Amino acid sequence: MTETTKPCIICVAITGSVPTKANNPALPVTIDEQLESTHEAFEAGASIVHAHVRNADETPTSDPEKFARLKEGLEKHCPGMVIQFSTGGRSGAGTERGGMLPLRPDMASLSVGSNNFPTRVYENPPDLVDWLAAEMRKYAVKPEIEAFDASHIFQAVAMWRDGRIPDTPYIQFVMGVKNAMPVDKPVFDFYVETVKRLVPDAEWCAAGIGPGQITVNEWSVAAGGHARTGLEDNVRLNKDTLAPSNAALVSRVVEICERHERPVATWQQARQMLGLRQAA
Ligand SMILES: [Zn+2]
Repeated sequence: MTETTKPCIICVAITGSVPTKANNPALPVTIDEQLESTHEAFEAGASIVHAHVRNADETPTSDPEKFARLKEGLEKHCPGMVIQFSTGGRSGAGTERGGMLPLRPDMASLSVGSNNFPTRVYENPPDLVDWLAAEMRKYAVKPEIEAFDASHIFQAVAMWRDGRIPDTPYIQFVMGVKNAMPVDKPVFDFYVETVKRLVPDAEWCAAGIGPGQITVNEWSVAAGGHARTGLEDNVRLNKDTLAPSNAALVSRVVEICERHERPVATWQQARQMLGLRQAA
């Protein structure tokens, strides 16, 4: 399979911990809204759902009980879809961030280093990173490495080489977060080359935040990577129009895939490429 005929895995980041209904009323906040929005996105072509959970007042939480209800609903309404939970740092501090890992989602996000976010430090100290990675090994959860910086790629590879990450790492480049790495093509190309040089058989993906989302989707699809979209990262279709749904953002990536003659991965293909169990 060449890079350009390989099926493209589309990940939909449905909610996140930052946007609110005031930013876009289509943002799914309750578990029921999340299930409905994910189902539409699954039908539109997404094979991974990346999820955070929220309290009734829209504030972020790491409540394992909410994650459990979401997982149960997703398994029922989107059978086969890869379920990825966020262990990101906006919804809690310390080991609270990994409180949902015993639920054994297919995947969980893992940040392996620190950087700045728009209004604060995104703190990922080495002992917490190692604890989260150990919990993921214990519960057979595949990490998706969130690379906010080049050093995070090297750290993920070091953790894979010494066994803290047991299988081929799946690395996502995150570009466009204010005060962190911007959406920059030479850096993107360097990221891709670095992953290929250090882990030749690794699959990789990329996420662009805000208006950079569509740009990064284009770069990823063209370069043989996988693509992330969704209202967590961007609430607009373009400068003037709010995205009507997560599915609309997924459809936009499907169109990019068609233009680049990349088939869109089914959930079975996504699981196979990521080395996950074939569920459902
Ligand atoms: Zn997230």
